[in-house]
Amino acid sequence: MPGARFAPYHVRRVSALVQGFHPVHNIDVFARLRCVDGGNVVFPPFDRETMRAAVEAEVRQLSAALVTPVVIGGDHSVTLPVLRALSKRHGPLAVVHFDAHLDTSGPEVWGDAFHHGTPMRHAIEEGLIERGQLYQLGIRGPRGGAADDELVRSREHTIISADAIDERQPRRVCAELRERIGMRPTYVTFDVDAIDPAFAPGTGTPVPGGITAREALQLLRGLASLRVVGGDVVEYCPSLDHADITAHLTAAIAWELLALVALRP
Ligand code: MN
Ligand code: MN
Repeated sequence: MPGARFAPYHVRRVSALVQGFHPVHNIDVFARLRCVDGGNVVFPPFDRETMRAAVEAEVRQLSAALVTPVVIGGDHSVTLPVLRALSKRHGPLAVVHFDAHLDTSGPEVWGDAFHHGTPMRHAIEEGLIERGQLYQLGIRGPRGGAADDELVRSREHTIISADAIDERQPRRVCAELRERIGMRPTYVTFDVDAIDPAFAPGTGTPVPGGITAREALQLLRGLASLRVVGGDVVEYCPSLDHADITAHLTAAIAWELLALVALRP
């Protein structure tokens, strides 16, 4: 993003490993896009409200300049200000949300209305997502109670669990998404904990039984032809990683998001 003063070393090093030609889509991603690493959004690190305001302001600025943001987190709380900015431009969005978790916790969970387990609750309640156009992929694991998915269900959104992805396979899952989303402006948010900890150990809230790295990439490729107006990959935590396994995967996910932008109709 512009306005940033530096890019973290690990991002530079990994992105240097990503070449441009996409052998599945048969395009050169970097030849099709004018693509720049804009570095970091600058904000005071101890005030999350100011962080959200800074991220929203920067994405609004980019969006006004017709730039498509692909944001690298940070935890999942950065997605809310990005969605706020983009929905101001495009109206309520379709959102494809990869995650082990629903991210619809309320303030009763940790006594805090805004943390990395809450972005989808706010996005739904603030009307940033069109009714019935949130697709949550890779959901699994224990919940606080049977009513945890009530908000998602009540707005006719769709949960496709990690097990359901295994049963139906990425090809059929993506065919359904493309059919149901059509030409709506679409945001893709990718929490790396959607992927099994065997492939993505470098994250703060790992949940066993996730999708494979290969399924993740197949699912992303299957979204080609959607009108992707932005995306993010979040929850990568370098200090919890081993041998850069998750760093390489995170870079690959970011590149697949760029490919979706390059292929946007
Ligand atoms: Mn999340
Ligand atoms: Mn998660």
